[in-house]
Amino acid sequence: MPDTPEEKPARHILSLSGGKDSAALAIYLRDRVENMEYMFSDTQKELPETYEYLDRIEAYLGKPIVRLNALVGFDHWYEMYGGMIPSNHRRWCTRALKLKPFEDYVGEDQVFNYVGLRADEDRQGYISHKPNITPVYPFREHGLKLKDIEGILRDSGIGMPPYTKWGRTRSGCYFCFYQQKIEWVRLKETHPGLYEQAKAYERPYEKTGNFFTWSNGESLAELEQPIRMEQIKREHAIRIERNLQRRENATLLEVFGEHESVDQPDDDEDQGCLVCQL
Ligand code: SF4
Repeated sequence: MPDTPEEKPARHILSLSGGKDSAALAIYLRDRVENMEYMFSDTQKELPETYEYLDRIEAYLGKPIVRLNALVGFDHWYEMYGGMIPSNHRRWCTRALKLKPFEDYVGEDQVFNYVGLRADEDRQGYISHKPNITPVYPFREHGLKLKDIEGILRDSGIGMPPYTKWGRTRSGCYFCFYQQKIEWVRLKETHPGLYEQAKAYERPYEKTGNFFTWSNGESLAELEQPIRMEQIKREHAIRIERNLQRRENATLLEVFGEHESVDQPDDDEDQGCLVCQL
């Protein structure tokens, strides 16, 4: 009888996004999961701070983070889609630049894919649904919440992602359409060159005349007007104040036994996708 080939052991893969949750998960699992592979799907449109953060994490892990590049990048697909800027409803970018390179890297191997979704989040994952890829959610399984993640990052010395210093809340492409208006303002102030590059994608597509914008309801040329930027800052400050009030009220409710989540995002627009922004 011919020998049956030995079954290949399942692989353990943790996909880093450049965000705090996947970074904390890598730290948390470093000494818990043997043979972990680390990878990062690089759209080549990331913030410089993200690359710096990944280097820091890599040094801590003592293992390489494999950088995956799509065979063809964002600009190719942008032209293919007729100048269509991706959006929540036209999210071709995540599929082409994040999921596909990951699935190609995995092939048909059996894989446990570790995802940094927290126990205090109520989000659906936009992740690979290939049958050979099994998602694992250690933070959820172990009940780890935001304050635990912050503790892991602090204790390891890795800290929060550097872009949080200038008020950006998410990893992913510098032009990500999930950005809140205030994050566009901060991008303009911190990385004016990247803002200009994002603006350059907002142009009528020569073949169809279609014109798409990154941010809902206005172009980046409109958003960067000083009066508009001031208005966005004012509205953001009001929203922060309102949320602080809500938190105070929630604490009072908790005192009286009526629990209410206080870990909601501070903005309705804050609905990023898992693969890019955990
Ligand atoms: S970060 Fe945003 S723009 Fe970039 S691939 Fe993800 S969803 Fe698309």
